[in-house]
Amino acid sequence: MTDLTIQTLEASTKTIPQDTVSALRGKVRGTVALPGEDGYEDARTIWNGMVDRRPALVVRCLGAADVINAVNLARDEKLLLAVRGGGHNIAGNAVCDDGLLIDLSLMRSVRIDPASATARVEPGATLADFDKEAQEFGLVTPLGINSTTGVAGLTLGGGFGWTTRKFGLTIDNLISADIVTADGKLLHVSGRENPDLFWALRGGGGNFGVVTSFEFKLHPLGPQVLSGLIVHPLEKARELLPQFSRIAKQAPDELTIWAVMRKAPPLVFLSTEWHGKDVLVFAACYAGDMKEGEKALKGLRSLGKPIADVISPHPFTAWQAAFDPLLTPGARNYWKSHDFADLTDPAINAILNGVQDLPSPECEVFIAQIGGAMARIPGNATAYPNRDAHFTMNVHTRWQDKAQDAACIAWARHLFEATAPFASGSVYVNFMPDDEVDRVEKAYGTNYRRLAEIKRRYDPTNLFRMNQNIRPAR
Ligand SMILES: Cc1cc2nc3c(=O)[nH]c(=O)nc-3n(C[C@H](O)[C@H](O)[C@H](O)COP(=O)(O)OP(=O)(O)OC[C@H]3O[C@@H](n4cnc5c(N)ncnc54)[C@H](O)[C@@H]3O)c2cc1C
Repeated sequence: MTDLTIQTLEASTKTIPQDTVSALRGKVRGTVALPGEDGYEDARTIWNGMVDRRPALVVRCLGAADVINAVNLARDEKLLLAVRGGGHNIAGNAVCDDGLLIDLSLMRSVRIDPASATARVEPGATLADFDKEAQEFGLVTPLGINSTTGVAGLTLGGGFGWTTRKFGLTIDNLISADIVTADGKLLHVSGRENPDLFWALRGGGGNFGVVTSFEFKLHPLGPQVLSGLIVHPLEKARELLPQFSRIAKQAPDELTIWAVMRKAPPLVFLSTEWHGKDVLVFAACYAGDMKEGEKALKGLRSLGKPIADVISPHPFTAWQAAFDPLLTPGARNYWKSHDFADLTDPAINAILNGVQDLPSPECEVFIAQIGGAMARIPGNATAYPNRDAHFTMNVHTRWQDKAQDAACIAWARHLFEATAPFASGSVYVNFMPDDEVDRVEKAYGTNYRRLAEIKRRYDPTNLFRMNQNIRPAR
């Protein structure tokens, strides 16, 4: 084995003697993988096919001790460092070129304590891992809508999904966490221990260290939830979206509705004549009693003349995975997102003008209903600042052919710009692509200053910079 050439934090390269790599191999319980070695390709391959980065060195961790050893090496040698959880983030910061990658994807344990209704979750666990364990006991915590997403990155950015309006953001259910900070120390953070750091972790992303364990609060729900899709022709959207907005704003916390505009996939319940045609889909879930759910969903289900209405009781774990077939890894993806306080007519017009010419059959625009319990927590209670938006729009551009990159990205940016005048100005950090560096400060709004102060205390050299980066305060 030869010495290793590796990228530093100062964007130059340096050489690490092979003895250092051998010593690291001897110290960790997991594995150290160089290009071409076992596990290297798995570790560097992430959900977004646009991201094709090759770290010089990968540490595939199996526990906090491995993370400490990797962080110590990165800090002492001033190495460019990336941290990978589930590998789903659109920006692709989970992997770096030519630096050191801390891969947590093998740490997938989920331990449920039904007596205290709490969960201990390792940072490589996916939402499916979490839901399968928790549902065995009829318990949930709010997570996202695609079961292959990582719990770690989702939580650190905030986390919302079908049960957020009822139970809050994922971070609102975080009780404590273990984190390895830049100095290589393992800290326990909670409302009582290191409360500033605990505040920052809840929305501040991977800026403050490597989380090796999360503790969550759980709530009773399931095993079945009233959920499913209502499909309309897209041409009816101008009439239906204002009514969706009205119904959403009056909905009880248990009810969450997302509006999705796209070309109809070949869903089994849709007649073939509709496959590939432009549709408006309402995806809905009632996180509570079925009979109450039937009542709450009446208004949405009586709108217009749907092509299909497949709302019925579904196992919660199946509903949480319902969109997985449309979101498989490997495709090329680019997102643009912002929040809305209201879906006004001009905003709806701008969205509908944009979806008239979807650049690929897999592109979609979704409007996720948020609010409810998450909105009743003050914006400065955690690092996640934007709690008063009612809707989050994501222009989810997805395609297969590299030759389409420019056209697809241009379409997303154009739709984003056209809707910007009607948006609230806030954005969910977990939906931001890698080219929105200038937007990070705005995304955190009035919380940014406190985040930068905490960053200075725990990571003064900005070792953890492959993320939506918060710069240490000067
Ligand atoms: C198809 C799809 C659907 C989605 N749906 C939703 C949704 O419904 N709701 C929602 O809230 N979000 C959703 N998201 C966004 C999702 O929350 C983010 O992509 C999130 O970052 C994914 O976490 P991950 O661990 O898989 O990501 P990774 O790409 O592995 O990590 C993202 C970043 O988080 C940091 N990080 C990861 N793990 C750790 C750790 N243990 N310690 C410190 N830092 C760490 C790193 O900076 C890393 O770059 C979706 C994403 C996709 C691709």
